[in-house]
Amino acid sequence: MSTRIRTALVIGGGIAGPIAAMALQQAGIEATVYEAYAHTADSLGGGMTIAPNGQDALDAVGLGELLRPLGVPMTGIVMQDWAGRRLAEFGNPPGVPPMQLVWRADLYSSLHGEAERRGIRIERGRRLVDATETADGVTAHFADGSEATADVLIGADGIRSTVRTLIDPDAPGPQYAGLISFGARVEHVATPSTRSKMNMSFGKQAFLGYQVLDDATGVWFVNLPHPEPMSAAEARRTPAAQWLALLSAKFADDRTPARELIDRTPPEELIVVGSMENMPQVPVWSRGRMVLVGDSAHAPSSSSGQGASLSIESAIELARCLRDLPYPDAFAAYERLRRPRVERIIKETTHKNSAKAAGPVGRVVFAMLMRVFGRLAKPEKAAWMFDHRIDWAAEVAG
Ligand SMILES: Cc1cc2nc3c(=O)[nH]c(=O)nc-3n(C[C@H](O)[C@H](O)[C@H](O)COP(=O)(O)OP(=O)(O)OC[C@H]3O[C@@H](n4cnc5c(N)ncnc54)[C@H](O)[C@@H]3O)c2cc1C
Repeated sequence: MSTRIRTALVIGGGIAGPIAAMALQQAGIEATVYEAYAHTADSLGGGMTIAPNGQDALDAVGLGELLRPLGVPMTGIVMQDWAGRRLAEFGNPPGVPPMQLVWRADLYSSLHGEAERRGIRIERGRRLVDATETADGVTAHFADGSEATADVLIGADGIRSTVRTLIDPDAPGPQYAGLISFGARVEHVATPSTRSKMNMSFGKQAFLGYQVLDDATGVWFVNLPHPEPMSAAEARRTPAAQWLALLSAKFADDRTPARELIDRTPPEELIVVGSMENMPQVPVWSRGRMVLVGDSAHAPSSSSGQGASLSIESAIELARCLRDLPYPDAFAAYERLRRPRVERIIKETTHKNSAKAAGPVGRVVFAMLMRVFGRLAKPEKAAWMFDHRIDWAAEVAG
């Protein structure tokens, strides 16, 4: 029985999946991606930031240039209260490049395009439902009755991972964070440019993030406290115009540009993301020939701005480990390399969703704390998070 691998099944064509497949190809391992949905970039919604550490990881496997043309630089975050008063500002640590704000659907399509250009097969409409292992390999079973076999199976299937449950039937699942999320791009905004900064405001009834570019286009997102979870599909049963009217009303008493941005959004441009979730620690990352990567293993708070970047880092580190070691040792080395870092980030950012979901009193208290801690916040303290580097050429020790 050989434990050096030549082939991999990558389950999930989000961010970690195509990147893992491209990095594996560079490591001399043939990977095929299986994505549940027929049209990957559909229904994904929203803007997201790729942090400097995520950009560095992409550079490690020659993918950084793919991202940069898609992104809008973000040099800092200005926190505000409902009246638009500045509470605190968080800049990047000195010497690191700005975050890149990208549209999720653009990033996904671009990754798929590049993977296919590099000769990687992406099979769409293939939803994994089960997997069986033999001494020689692992077979994925898909909902359409088809199968595929390879040396290892990589679960890049997101926060609601099926592979996580196959590895450990007792694995925890995501917990609703008490918020549903929306976003949009808007043209012809009257609000002045925010000068490459994202403004975030604890409104009286909902949380707003917005950035206005020098060309008078803007992006915004709203996290709306909501008692019940609502999947994107459920939330989309309500017409977009109705959601826009409701969101606009939620900001009626605030003195931020929320209403201007929302009222200028054509209903067809509204992106309804659905529930925001927190993911508890995942105790088991691999079993036999199966391993987790990305949100399936470690999903930080969706407010952390690190989920995609950590997924990118992990996908590349997993490929590096599989390049240099037999798979059982590779999985152990990968977990040793990744778990302390991702869990530290998760620990430091978990409170962010709960601050947004707090009631009106909680939000006032949080704003006061933000004002105090904002003065104390030193960008250098976050340097360890952003400064992370992957040395693709370095050999992984077993
Ligand atoms: C509202 C919101 C805002 C966010 N903002 C940011 C941000 O600003 N910055 C940031 O870094 N991160 C952000 N994130 C987190 C980020 O989106 C995730 O961390 C990232 O997408 C994880 O990548 P992934 O490839 O692991 O999972 P995903 O991108 O979720 O991809 C998983 C893929 O697997 C597929 N799949 C699932 N099950 C199966 C199956 N059984 N068979 C086959 N395929 C399957 C799915 O269809 C999907 O395409 C945000 C998340 C949310 C919800």
